[in-house]
Amino acid sequence: MEKRFVYADNAATTKVSDRAFKAALPYFQEQYGNASSIYMIGQNSAKVILKAREQVANAIGAKINEIYFTSGGSESDNWAIKGMAENGERRGKKHIITSCFEHHAVLHTCQYLEKRGFEVTYLPVSDKGLISVEDFKNALRDDTCLATIMLANNEIGTIQPIEEFAAICKERKIPFHTDAVQAIGVVPIDVKAMRVDMLSLSGHKIHAPKGIGALYIRGGIMIPNLIHGGAQERSKRAGTENLPSIVAFGEAITAAVENMPEKIAKISVMRDKLINGILKIKETRLNGDADKRLCGNVNISIRGIEGESLLLSLDIMGICASSGSACTSGSLDPSHVLLALGLPHEIAHGSLRLSISNETTDEDVDYILECVPQVVKKLRAMSPLWERICKEEGISD
Ligand SMILES: *Cc1c(COP(=O)(O)O)cnc(C)c1O
Repeated sequence: MEKRFVYADNAATTKVSDRAFKAALPYFQEQYGNASSIYMIGQNSAKVILKAREQVANAIGAKINEIYFTSGGSESDNWAIKGMAENGERRGKKHIITSCFEHHAVLHTCQYLEKRGFEVTYLPVSDKGLISVEDFKNALRDDTCLATIMLANNEIGTIQPIEEFAAICKERKIPFHTDAVQAIGVVPIDVKAMRVDMLSLSGHKIHAPKGIGALYIRGGIMIPNLIHGGAQERSKRAGTENLPSIVAFGEAITAAVENMPEKIAKISVMRDKLINGILKIKETRLNGDADKRLCGNVNISIRGIEGESLLLSLDIMGICASSGSACTSGSLDPSHVLLALGLPHEIAHGSLRLSISNETTDEDVDYILECVPQVVKKLRAMSPLWERICKEEGISD
């Protein structure tokens, strides 16, 4: 078996595409003008920002003036949630609904607001990683100022019925926000049909650079600024525009939504091959619903091994993957997402997330399927935990 380099961690970040990279290049050294300046290269910058804004708007069915560029998904989430919380507070509404397996950009923002006197309902998720519409409906209160539920989960890839949540909120006149960072380009999004009020996007998950994103804010909805200063973004988000990244983001999101059905079909086939192949290893389980799932997401718990050792061994073989355990981020706690599914700590610790993209090839998939069983076998052979599991449960290894 020849060693390859296989990048299977696209949920963490992606390679900048040639298309996005080339589009951005002139704006570093040639057309670098400040969009607020009146001379030609300044005004040219204003023009290309407008074009990128239109590209983002088109990708999600929004109007141009409903798109605000930000520094990424985290800022968009923070702005939407803190902004709506501030609106609510002014009217004595200090209750927020979210789920317990959101991205930390949402969870930690909600926890921050709890310290400031807000009450937050963290909806549970089922063992398949889905939020119940009934639970959602029951959680709404007269003093709810915001509901925020992610469109697709970054760890287990489950896709939530956002249209249903949004419709319920519309009826009750409660603002609804969704984090669509993982969904854009692999789940069709139309903000008008979905009836969401705010939606977060990030560039670096869709082959644009890191540090650029957007918040969609439905026309007519007002939230206070998160960043104060200059009059950029129609005075709603200060700071000289990140011109090259904005241009790249516009191109990347346009590419992301092109030929989406074909792309989803192609990636799903590779995903299912990976899932079926890895599930052949004994004592493994797929995390997250098999159908309501992102086409590029594989998340499998492998008993008897540590996620971290698995990742290090795969890295030696040239494979970049991620683990359900948060060891990678320097914490020994297992992932809050896997714990939310009800997995015991022991199983949540030994999880493997592979996130593939349009650039993943059949050869990459075959290579992963050769390496993972080998690595698991090797690690289990050295694992006292696996030995104990085998003894206690009568598994022959
Ligand atoms: C990556 C990610 C974010 C954060 O986006 P950044 O641009 O890195 O700040 C937020 N939500 C989800 C679901 C993500 O996957």
